[in-house]
Amino acid sequence: MTYSTPSIGFISLGCPKATVDSERILTQLRAEGYSIQSADDDVDLVIINTCGFIDAAVTESLDVIGAAVNEHDRVIVTGCLGARAELVRQQFPEVLAITGPHALAEVMTAVHTHLPAPHDPLTSLVPPQGVRLTPSHYAYLKISEGCDHRCSFCIIPSLRGDLVSRGIGEVLNEATRLVESGVREILVIAQDTSAYGMDLRHRTDIWHGRALRTDITTLARELGTLPAWIRLHYVYPHPHVDTLIPLMAEGLILPYLDLPLQHGSERVLRAMKRPAASEQVLKRLERWRVDCPQLVLRSTFIVGFPGETEAEFTQLLEFLQAAQLDRVGCFPYSAVAGAAANALPDSIPEAIKLERLERLMTLQAEISRAKLAARIGQRLTVLVDAVEEDAIIARSEGDAPEIDGEVIISGEWEIDVGDFIEVEIIDSDAHDLWAVPIDDAL
Ligand code: SF4
Repeated sequence: MTYSTPSIGFISLGCPKATVDSERILTQLRAEGYSIQSADDDVDLVIINTCGFIDAAVTESLDVIGAAVNEHDRVIVTGCLGARAELVRQQFPEVLAITGPHALAEVMTAVHTHLPAPHDPLTSLVPPQGVRLTPSHYAYLKISEGCDHRCSFCIIPSLRGDLVSRGIGEVLNEATRLVESGVREILVIAQDTSAYGMDLRHRTDIWHGRALRTDITTLARELGTLPAWIRLHYVYPHPHVDTLIPLMAEGLILPYLDLPLQHGSERVLRAMKRPAASEQVLKRLERWRVDCPQLVLRSTFIVGFPGETEAEFTQLLEFLQAAQLDRVGCFPYSAVAGAAANALPDSIPEAIKLERLERLMTLQAEISRAKLAARIGQRLTVLVDAVEEDAIIARSEGDAPEIDGEVIISGEWEIDVGDFIEVEIIDSDAHDLWAVPIDDAL
């Protein structure tokens, strides 16, 4: 098998500051194994570092871009003229990506999107899909870092900063590589998955010749074309989450939403600096279930938040009773150093926090038991997580690995981890399901 090295032509215009930017980009490209050649050669991609200082420089930069797009299919523009993206975009809509000056990371993201870095197993010990800690049949796909919210119990924004989304093409390339390496389920994660692309003002990127808006719905739709289960985690309840439900109903992504709601009392939610609209949330859940009856909802809650009264805790229980969520995680409030909520009065004694946790989980266990019992007799596709001596441990579309339940198929079977099988549910408890393979599924 031969491995061709992706080649890049680089044109550097402008002042010494632009030259230094060019050197940094070139250094990174070489470090990643790209071949750097003249832009006059038959290269795979051309990068132009432009100048926009005076009119003559603008004209020269535009001329150079024009010549490059005539000669090459893939052109990326960076530098001072790139800061006036509209001007470039108007004249040359075929340019793949435009960044301002001093934008090494953005340029590299664009390069990775349109010309993935070379991988040669003869010289590289790292597989194309990277080194992963998860089992080979599922993988986490991180689409952004940081968070623009300021929930008062959380210090993640001060640790990881504001939201920074990855380019949509880069994310799709990674997902494609994962599936090609045998991954059967992709778990989409971020601090706030539904905010994806907001920091990039939902810019449009070109990926495989198509214009894609950088937003969670577009990303989910594209991921949904891959032959793998796509599961969304940590979906902050932004209004546009509604647009994901039709994708679930269509079967493009799993009908599963991990939507941290944190509380059912509007006063507590306001103190948490979270969206305080429990009634509306209930209405939305109802609507989602009408639009996608197979939807499985997971959420997490905090009990014992400073100032939480017994009446407010009861409101949370009432909310849970009304919401009938499928899966619930609950944590007693803990004062993380640096969290704004630590300054709130009326902290709740540990014993009361634990007692509330117990009451909440007891209620949820009843709800979960009834919901799982209703699935007896259903036929489902499950994904095999483990093959033990006397049972297969699998999961349905409604169960995320590690945090949700299992589907247990008793007996000794010839099957591999990562296989999908059709089963019929025969029994359940508060957490797990038991099933038998349908007909000759095994
Ligand atoms: S709890 Fe989640 S949404 Fe809120 S600030 Fe922390 S990371 Fe952001």
